[in-house]
Amino acid sequence: MSECFRCGVCCIKFQAPLSAGEVRRISAFLGIEADEFIRRFTDPRWHGKEKLLLHTNGACSFLNFDPSGKINDCHIHQVRPAACRDWVPGPDKLECREGLSKHWRLSFGDSGLNKPIIVVGAGAGGMMAAGKAAETYQNVILLEKNTDPGKKILISGKTRCNLTNQRELQEFIPMYGDNGRFLYSAFNKFFREDLLELLGKYGVETKTERGGRIFPISDDARDVVAAFKHYLNDRKVEIMTNTRVIGVKVEEGRVTAVRSAQGELPASAVILATGGASFPGTGSTGDGYRVAEEVGHAIKKLRPALVPLVVEEKEIAGSMQGVSLRNVRLTSFRCTADKIQPEMLPVYDCGRGVDGKRPKSPVIESRMGEMMMTHFGIGGPITLRMSLAIVDALEEGPVSVAIDLKPGMDTDQLRRRLQRDFDTFGQRQFRHILKELLPNKMIEPFLRLSGISGNKTGHEVSGLERERLLGLLKVFRFNIKSSLPLAAAMVTAGGVSLDEIDPRTMASKLVTGLYFCGEVMDIDADTGGYNLQAAFSTGYLAGEQAALFAGGKN
Ligand SMILES: Cc1cc2nc3c(=O)[nH]c(=O)nc-3n(C[C@H](O)[C@H](O)[C@H](O)COP(=O)(O)OP(=O)(O)OC[C@H]3O[C@@H](n4cnc5c(N)ncnc54)[C@H](O)[C@@H]3O)c2cc1C
Repeated sequence: MSECFRCGVCCIKFQAPLSAGEVRRISAFLGIEADEFIRRFTDPRWHGKEKLLLHTNGACSFLNFDPSGKINDCHIHQVRPAACRDWVPGPDKLECREGLSKHWRLSFGDSGLNKPIIVVGAGAGGMMAAGKAAETYQNVILLEKNTDPGKKILISGKTRCNLTNQRELQEFIPMYGDNGRFLYSAFNKFFREDLLELLGKYGVETKTERGGRIFPISDDARDVVAAFKHYLNDRKVEIMTNTRVIGVKVEEGRVTAVRSAQGELPASAVILATGGASFPGTGSTGDGYRVAEEVGHAIKKLRPALVPLVVEEKEIAGSMQGVSLRNVRLTSFRCTADKIQPEMLPVYDCGRGVDGKRPKSPVIESRMGEMMMTHFGIGGPITLRMSLAIVDALEEGPVSVAIDLKPGMDTDQLRRRLQRDFDTFGQRQFRHILKELLPNKMIEPFLRLSGISGNKTGHEVSGLERERLLGLLKVFRFNIKSSLPLAAAMVTAGGVSLDEIDPRTMASKLVTGLYFCGEVMDIDADTGGYNLQAAFSTGYLAGEQAALFAGGKN
């Protein structure tokens, strides 16, 4: 290997005239036929010029022609230079108009070429992984199919980005359901404080809100993406946007390249950080599942999580559309709504993420909090949190929910309260008494459902009718028809099976040099910043371990 006078990091340098053997070597390296090489490189338009070419296999060549068209010298580099931004498409390659950068950050070890670590997907996990890998490995490329990194981060937390949560590790883990234990190593390596410190370095200060949710002080997710871009730039990660990966190449059980529409890029290690399959407009279209499956990974069934629910009684729900219910208890049941009895209602939260409180059958989950009525059913925070368990239960049979609109009182207390209200407001019409109990938009539907005329005065409402009202207030029920589709879910449950990923390294147990992070894995969590924290933490661990692997240290 001789040194290039310009950059000093050539992997191969040739000088004209090229021998037939050298032509063969160069063309093989560039992945083209020797004849084709000669045809292309003797194009008279190039005579007397310099050209920097990027080839579909990821290599770069720099050629210098004399006026007669002879190649004076030819340098070949394994990967494209970060400084070249102005790539234009050629017949089957990209050309860089700017010429060769003086500051190549490539280095080649004793063994020859230092192939890049390729991170696929510039979301939360991928950006973290690429930055971390580049801390110790000099050649990291981040491939993103969108024109910009971090599109999903930008819409997260209603564009405020709920980064993580204040809860302690022991309380964090149950938020991921049964798969939470898989995250211990990743969280031990890189947890909330590390994330906040990293963001702090790039000017993102944070604040903690209700429920321990942590947001940037600016309430602007763009600051988070900007911080990560800055971090990647500092670490000299090369970001190639508009590049969609369609597969990884595995030879003798080891990953050797990624395949994209533009061709193959050789890789020393690959980190798959392609996200889930929800909100596909952000770029997460489930490509990673197909890529992983193609190389032998099992994919756990994909299901929508954190998703609004469609009810059978659409008309009733729709008539209350937009009503936000605070401090109500939502309970889901494995049965039809007509089977729900008031005594079946738990008075405490139970289900996924609630430590120590197991729901009693047929209850699936129960939560106090805020929810919304929508034109198709129910949404809002507690609905979303309970949705995955409902989606799963629907596979097995009917599911219904009951809203306890007055969870602060038990049935007897509420009965006494109603009696008092009806006595106090005995001269008022029933519809006006209801205003004391319900949001305006719920009054007409409640009149219909209770079968009590709104024109009756409080004194005229019978004891039986009051009991009907009491029942509706404590057990306002709906049969669940389905959830909205996966595309409308905040998170995708299911994904690359955790059985085939080493939790200590995020490495594939099937393919050497392949790593995973973020939502592409079978990891999903409650709302509250847990999904992003998992993506950042697993990204950190995958980046660290891929760099050790590619550097020959593990
Ligand atoms: C509306 C909404 C709000 C949310 N709010 C929050 C919140 O406030 N807090 C929270 O913790 N979680 C939130 N989440 C969930 C959280 O955003 C995700 O779990 C997290 O972003 C997953 O990170 P990731 O890096 O695994 O995947 P993503 O962020 O989805 O990134 C994957 C990237 O890979 C790219 N990609 C995909 N396929 C390819 C390919 N073939 N080639 C190249 N690139 C590819 C995509 O374009 C994308 O940029 C929200 C989700 C949604 C939809």
